This record gives sequence, C-alpha cells and structure tokens, in this order.
Amino acid sequence: RREQKQRAQMKQFGERLRTLRAELVMVRKKATLDPLTRVYNRTALDEHLKRVVELCGFSGENACLYMVDADHFKQVNDSYGHPVGDAVLKVLADTCIRCFPRKTDFVARYGGEEFAVIVEGGTPEGCRELGQRLIDAVHSRLIPVNDDEIRVTVSVGMAVLETGESAEQWVTRADDALLLAKQNGRNRLEVA
Ligand code: GH3
Ligand code: MG
Ligand code: MG
Repeated sequence: RREQKQRAQMKQFGERLRTLRAELVMVRKKATLDPLTRVYNRTALDEHLKRVVELCGFSGENACLYMVDADHFKQVNDSYGHPVGDAVLKVLADTCIRCFPRKTDFVARYGGEEFAVIVEGGTPEGCRELGQRLIDAVHSRLIPVNDDEIRVTVSVGMAVLETGESAEQWVTRADDALLLAKQNGRNRLEVA
C-alpha cells in the first residue's frame, strides 16, 4: 500500500511540475516589459521568482539570482543629463541580455538603475563565472555619448537558491551580497 501511495504521490508531483512549467512559459509571454529598456518589468520578475522557487523546490534543480546595480549612476545623470542616463540604462539591459541569452535566462529591471537576472540550472561555480563575465562585459563596453565615449561599471550580488527558501529571502540574500560588493569597492561580484 505504501508503494501505491508513493507512486500516486510521484504522479502528482509530475503533474504539478508540468503545470508549473507550462505556467512559466505563459507568464513569460504575458509578462509586461519595462518601457525604457525592453527587459521584463518588476511585476514579471515577482511572478517569475515565485514560480522558479516552486519549480526548483520540486525538481531539485539549481537556480541563481543576480542583483545588478550600476555604480555611481547618479554621476552619469549629473554629468551628462538624464537622457544620456537613460541611454546607458538601455546599454546595461542589452549587456545583461547578451550575457544571459538562454531561453530559461530571465532579465528584468528591478527598478531605477538596478536589474535582476535569474538563471536556472548550472553549478554555483559556473554561475559565479557568468556573473563575473557580465561585470567584465559592462566594464569593457564603450558607450557613445555626444562626441565622446564613456564606460560604466556594475556591482553584482549573487545568491544560489537554498532549499526551503522563499522568494523574498532569496532576494534579500542577493541584496546583502550586492551591498557587500558596493562596500568592497564596486565593479565586483559577491556571493551570498
Ligand atoms: P551606487 O554606486 O552606490 O549604486 O551609487 P548610485 O549613484 O548608482 O546610486 P544612487 O542610488 O545614489 O543613485 C541612483 C541614480 O539612478 C539616481 C537616479 O536619478 C538614477 N535613476 C534611476 N532611474 C533612472 C532612470 O530611469 N533614468 C535615469 N536617467 N536615471 C535613473
Ligand atoms: Mg541602486
Ligand atoms: Mg547604483
């Protein structure tokens, strides 16, 4: 009888997993984009976070969250004006998309000059490399401004989803790591 119960439970898990995956695809399609940068907006991010937490809880797969914040961005606005600041944000969003191009990668604007990226699968060490690659890609990109070119940098806080963790706790850990990256000199990655 126990075996029968287990089998029924496995079937239920399987069905829930399938539903979740289907929902994930649907939410992605419905998800609204941030008008400035054309990456997902905050609402879409919150939905996605919840589903990834549940999905990975079921499947045991890894998921990694990066909080990405432009360094000294106020200075960009102050020196060149808000339209240039906006253009730089577009470049940052574009760099995130280029660095995280897989179908399951999710790039969103968290708000202001902050972005969030969620990656499914992969090892923690691989995730760290991907995060570092983003930092390098931003740093090496020359952004045309009027007749000049400027460079910006980002700081990144990374957190691999832990078993039993809520979406909120996950975000908080990534935020803490971001704060540490800022404190430790910016243009760098810290892992929660
Ligand atoms: P830190 O390295 O500590 O992150 O410094 P920071 O200057 O980036 O951080 P701070 O929070 O002081 O400033 C963020 C700035 O981002 C201030 C705000 O005007 C600017 N910002 C937020 N959203 C937008 C936007 O949509 N467009 C433009 N141009 N600027 C924005
Ligand atoms: Mg910020
Ligand atoms: Mg900033």
